[in-house]
Amino acid sequence: MDVDVKKSLEFNTTTWSNERRSPEDMAAAANEIRRDIIRMLVRAGSGHSGGPLGSADIFAVLYMGGVMKYRPEDMNWPNRDRFVLSAGHMAPVMYAALANAGCYPKEEMATLRKYNTRLQGHPGRDMHLPGIETSSGSLGQGISIAVGMAMSDRLVEKNDRNVFCLTGDGELQEGSVWEAAMAASHFGLDNFCWIIDNNDCQIDGRLPDVMNVYPIVDKCVAFGFDTIVVDGHDIADIYRGFDRFLENRKNGTKKPTAIVAKTYMGHGVSFMNDKFEWHGKPPSKDQAVEALAELAQMA
Ligand SMILES: [Mg+2]
Repeated sequence: MDVDVKKSLEFNTTTWSNERRSPEDMAAAANEIRRDIIRMLVRAGSGHSGGPLGSADIFAVLYMGGVMKYRPEDMNWPNRDRFVLSAGHMAPVMYAALANAGCYPKEEMATLRKYNTRLQGHPGRDMHLPGIETSSGSLGQGISIAVGMAMSDRLVEKNDRNVFCLTGDGELQEGSVWEAAMAASHFGLDNFCWIIDNNDCQIDGRLPDVMNVYPIVDKCVAFGFDTIVVDGHDIADIYRGFDRFLENRKNGTKKPTAIVAKTYMGHGVSFMNDKFEWHGKPPSKDQAVEALAELAQMA
């Protein structure tokens, strides 16, 4: 194998501190997350490509852009903000973000979906990977857990932690999502930030063809959320969404915030872009090499 091709498939050791960055630097971090997603998936020979690639920009800003407060060397620090990946099948993007943020060794990404790994196909709290706050993957349940965490923080412990939760948009077809949303609003959880990865795709097709969940924004507003729509591939716009949440939090609005992020499944890899067929499959070796070459050009 060509030396450069072999190198492109290897994980590097670069990590990123968690601080406000320029859009260019933030895009570079997101690009590294995307490349690690490809590297993980081609090794595993199974797993989800589309959603993880499409949400890499959001994860970069959240973990390496100074939005969430946490200590990479101590992910059990009691005052940390929490993140729950309700769309648990998108685990590769979370694993890549945590590794690039220095929460665990990057070479461990090579173990995705292997026997006894801490990097299971869906996040498992019992695997003790730093940064995994709860097991998730049964759609609609992660957001309910996250709202419970926010309730405990806001109403019982009265601390200043924030809780972030990302759901897919196909996931909005689960009734329990809306029960959680109703509770977040009823209990005035301005410490709760709901991110909806709105790529208009799910495993079986386009959203309106499978089960129409639109209008998403109107629904979030009706459920009592301060709702903002952002371009999920525009770093400055993603910051605009999170800044709105942090401002709401600071002002004690007693309203949860929803960020509807418009994304494309598979973004960054042209042959996957906006194709729901890439929801749940990994690239072949040749496809991985092609994807990494394209991403390297963007870097
Ligand atoms: Mg989707």
